[in-house]
Amino acid sequence: MSYDILILGGGPAGLTAALYAKRAGVSVLVLEKTIYGGQVINTPTVENYPGIHTITGVDLAMALHEQVAKLGVEVRMEEPLSLQLDTDPKVVTTARGSYEAKTVIIANGVKRRQLGCPGEERLAGRGVSYCATCDGAFFQGMETAIVGGGNTALEDALFLANQCSTVHLIHRRDAFRGSAILAEAVAKRENIVLHYDTVVEEVLGEDKVTGLRLKQVKTGETKELPVAGVFVAIGLMPDNAFLAGQVELDKAGYIQAGEDCRTSQPGVYAAGDTRTKTVRQIVTAAADGAVAALGAAGVAGTVK
Ligand code: NAP
Repeated sequence: MSYDILILGGGPAGLTAALYAKRAGVSVLVLEKTIYGGQVINTPTVENYPGIHTITGVDLAMALHEQVAKLGVEVRMEEPLSLQLDTDPKVVTTARGSYEAKTVIIANGVKRRQLGCPGEERLAGRGVSYCATCDGAFFQGMETAIVGGGNTALEDALFLANQCSTVHLIHRRDAFRGSAILAEAVAKRENIVLHYDTVVEEVLGEDKVTGLRLKQVKTGETKELPVAGVFVAIGLMPDNAFLAGQVELDKAGYIQAGEDCRTSQPGVYAAGDTRTKTVRQIVTAAADGAVAALGAAGVAGTVK
C-alpha cells in the first residue's frame, strides 16, 4: 500500500500530524506499536493544555484519536520492524506487510528511564511500576514509594496520595525539578513523606516488592523502607536505536532536527519528544506535528 505520508507513532505529535496532513488533502497512515496517546496516557490530569482547564491523560488521548478517526485517518496498531528511508518511495515493514510513502514523519516519542538498581527488573510488574495511573489502584490503602523529582513524580505522588495510606517521595536532590505549583500541592499533603538527597540502592522482595534499601547521599546513611509498591518516575529517554544509520541522532540518541522538524534524511521529519529539543510538553509535541505535516504535505502533494 502506498501513501503520501506515513506517520510512525500515535501520540500527540503523530495524531496532530495526521490531523494536519488529512486536512491538507494528502493520503496518510499512522502506525502505532502499542497504544495511541503516547506518554499522555500516563498522566493523571493535564492542566496546561491551552483552552482545556483540566482533562485526564486518557481522555485527551481518546479525544485526539477520535478527532483524526472522524476525519477518516487510518490508524493501525503495528510496529515498524524495518525501515528504508533513503529510497523513493520510502518503505516501512511491519509483521503484517510493507507500506510505501513519499514522506515519513517519525513521532515515536520516548520511553521511561529505569533506575538500574538490583531488584528493579526482577520485580517489574510485581510491585515495580512505571505508570501510577495504570497501576495505582492495585495499592489501595497500602504504603508506596515514588522515585523522581520532576512533574511526573509530583503528579504521581498527588494521584497516589488519594488512594494509598502513605506515599514516600524519594528524590536524589534537595529541590524538585517539577513545577512550583505541584511541589506546593505535594508539600500540603499529610500522607506524602519527602525523602530528599536520597537514592534507591535496591528494590527488596522475593516474589513481590516488600521494601526499598535507601541511601542518604549527604550522610551516607542507609536504611530499609517497607513499601508494597514503587513507582519509578525518573524521566524519559529516546527509543531510537532502530533508526541508527537512517537519520542522524544526537549524542543522547534523539533525532537531530530543528524547529522545521526536518531530519538529515530528505523527506523524513521528526516530531515531538523524539527530536532534539529543550521543551518536551504535549503542546510542543502537537506543534511539531503540525509543522512536520505541513512540511511533508508540501513535499508529498499540494497543500489545500
Ligand atoms: P524529568 O522532568 O526529566 O525529571 C526526572 C526526575 O528524575 C528529575 O528530578 C531527576 O533528578 C530524576 N532522575 C533522573 N535520573 C535519575 C536516576 N537515575 N535516579 C534518580 N533520580 C533520577 O522527567 P518527568 O518528570 O518524567 O517529565 C518529563 C517531561 O514531561 C518534562 O518536560 C516534564 O515537564 C513533562 N511533564 C509535564 C507535566 C505537566 O506539565 N503537568 C507532567 C508530567 C511531565 P534531577 O532533578 O536531579 O535531574
